[in-house]
Amino acid sequence: MTTTTSSIRVERVQQSRLDTVNFNDLPFGKIFSDHMFVSDYRDGEWTDDRIIPFGHFTMHPASMVLHYGQAVFEGMKASLHEDGTPLLLRPDEHAKRINASARRMMMAEFPEDRFVEAISQLVALDKDWIPPTEGSALYLRPYMYATDEFIGVRPSESYRFCVFTAPVGPYYAKPVRLVVEQEYVRAVPGGTGEAKAAGNYAGSLLPAHLAQQRGFDQVVWMGGPNRKQIQEVGTMNIFFVIDGEVITPATDGAILKGITRKMFIQILKDRGIPVTERVIEIDEVVAASEAGTLQEMFGAGTAAVVSHVSELQYKDKLMTLPPVEGRKIGPMLKRYIDGLRAGKVEDPHGWIVRV
Ligand code: PMP
Repeated sequence: MTTTTSSIRVERVQQSRLDTVNFNDLPFGKIFSDHMFVSDYRDGEWTDDRIIPFGHFTMHPASMVLHYGQAVFEGMKASLHEDGTPLLLRPDEHAKRINASARRMMMAEFPEDRFVEAISQLVALDKDWIPPTEGSALYLRPYMYATDEFIGVRPSESYRFCVFTAPVGPYYAKPVRLVVEQEYVRAVPGGTGEAKAAGNYAGSLLPAHLAQQRGFDQVVWMGGPNRKQIQEVGTMNIFFVIDGEVITPATDGAILKGITRKMFIQILKDRGIPVTERVIEIDEVVAASEAGTLQEMFGAGTAAVVSHVSELQYKDKLMTLPPVEGRKIGPMLKRYIDGLRAGKVEDPHGWIVRV
């Protein structure tokens, strides 16, 4: 059945696959909902906005994305309000960030109002795919890639923008053991680290693999002279609590501007908790650990919200953080974001959008 709602053409599945899915046992990122949104950019405009049954694309062997990697993406989640309404958190920020990433990669931008409209309609249509348990969500993957059939190095003139969704279970984030990466770098100011570009993730796989072989969960990415400045952890922004002050590295072009990070800074300011965005060097963390003032360290991102750090290895020094049970800031931030996503706490900044 094909209907047209606003300017998005909608073609529904004949038969939903929902009854084949067990919401109590959801492997991350392997189960996809019934529909996806697709739009194609050609001759200078995005055309044929459509919601269609989830399925394969065909691809030309010379498709430019396969050769020069013009590909950017977002990761976001839809959740359910207690009253059953689907909720999105900061869709406007995700719309802006995919375009900031696209600009860095010389790709076409997708209009922000159409981005929000597309995900809203997609989530409304596949609303029954949002797992109801708190902490579970419908993960949304908006992305865009180059589709010119050409093998010269230049920006593509055609692109595809797509959004598909995947139900995910509650993310049980056990405290992680990290190693300060001294050999590889993720990004440098002026590079592509601030873009959510596919290639950044390919480049991070080897160092993460090597760290895992040594018994760590993830690496801490470093930058600056002599790789002393802390940037991020794995695919999350990083926060420290030292002697009551919350510190996160200032964005300098090498750090992804996380939307969770931005919300955390605002939540802390709202509560009058001192929070600083600045350069933080590993030596300061080592000194705080030795002085007993390193109270918390955690990653911040859409997937886990907060990922507590239990241990940090720097060269031959192993730092052990205080037990998670005694921590205040990280758990408070996670509770608040989970509460927002369930419609259970006040939303003074209007971050939640009801679908
Ligand atoms: N840094 C990197 C490298 C990431 O991939 C992510 C996940 N998007 C983040 C930080 C956290 O960003 P956000 O809070 O917007 O999910």
